Amino acid sequence: SVDKEKLASAAKIKVVVRKRPLNKKEIAKKEEDIITIERSSNSLTVHETKLKVDLTEYVEKHEFVFDAVLDEDVSNDEVYQETVEPVVPAIFQRTKATCFAYGQTGSGKTYTMQPLPLRASQDILRLMHHTYCNQGFQLFVSFFEIYGGKLFDLLNDRRKLCMREDGKQKVCIVGLQEYRVSNVDAIRELIEKGNATRSTGITGANEESSRSHAILQLAIKKSVDGSESKPPRIVGKLSFIDLAGSERGADTTDNDKQTRIEGAEINKSLLALKECIRALDNDQVHIPFRGSKLTEVLRDSFVGDSRTVMISCISPSSGSCEHTLNTLRYADRVK
Ligand code: ADP
Ligand code: MG
Repeated sequence: SVDKEKLASAAKIKVVVRKRPLNKKEIAKKEEDIITIERSSNSLTVHETKLKVDLTEYVEKHEFVFDAVLDEDVSNDEVYQETVEPVVPAIFQRTKATCFAYGQTGSGKTYTMQPLPLRASQDILRLMHHTYCNQGFQLFVSFFEIYGGKLFDLLNDRRKLCMREDGKQKVCIVGLQEYRVSNVDAIRELIEKGNATRSTGITGANEESSRSHAILQLAIKKSVDGSESKPPRIVGKLSFIDLAGSERGADTTDNDKQTRIEGAEINKSLLALKECIRALDNDQVHIPFRGSKLTEVLRDSFVGDSRTVMISCISPSSGSCEHTLNTLRYADRVK
């Protein structure tokens, strides 16, 4: 039985901010925590230190309100409950749900995103085996990244992939490996494999992963008339997107040409993403997918009954103030 009320209560677009703790490096540099959070009112304040003309300091406060604000003491489990858990039942009802992690490099995007698909697939498998048993549902996993506007399969040795649109304006990533999974261990193994492929991708440095968008998709399919021979049809999808470091979009004046090109691509995709989410929120008929590779790839997750969760990750440190304000303004614009 489906809890209709629960489905309806999962908002179409939800924006959540997560603040990480100060790290050792920041503490060693005597940087301060400049973010205060009030969970009861879902508000967050940035205390920015500025200089007057006569060089005396003063503090400017910037207040923001989101759907949820998560302090540094909030666990990954609580993040899951606040963000992804409410949309899981909907994907059995033809919904496409997408969860993004946005923020500067080092703000906690990967830390936040990594456990989510595993938790979600536990819940999906439980629903498949209990609530929807014997209804022919199947779970599939795929994992790829977008780097410099090109697609690479993280579950198949970073093989280069290309995208094609079929006549019905559906996107298809040619050659993308999809694995059918029926237990949590198999999923864990695939996720670990993909993560390892991502971070060791080109040079093995975190530097590289901060320039790519990693996309992990859980697809629910259903066999046609209980037949094993016909390809199963897609019912719903849950996508997890660990976005490139938001500050990378500003690398457009770097001395290195490749870095400039990648920076421009990241900038374009983050802007296009914001435009698409805003269009969704306003129930616009025309969603500007074509703005970037990222939004084109996600096209079928934005049409029809869709849910979007944006987790904006921020550092608490005074040294990151400018980047943090940029992240919060982006999140505010999406809302
Ligand atoms: P990003 O993916 O945004 O570049 P990471 O997720 O790699 O950032 O996080 C940077 C560092 O901070 C990592 O060492 C990570 O373990 C740590 N970290 C991030 N968020 C948290 C958190 N909420 N609690 C504790 N440590 C965190
Ligand atoms: Mg990361």
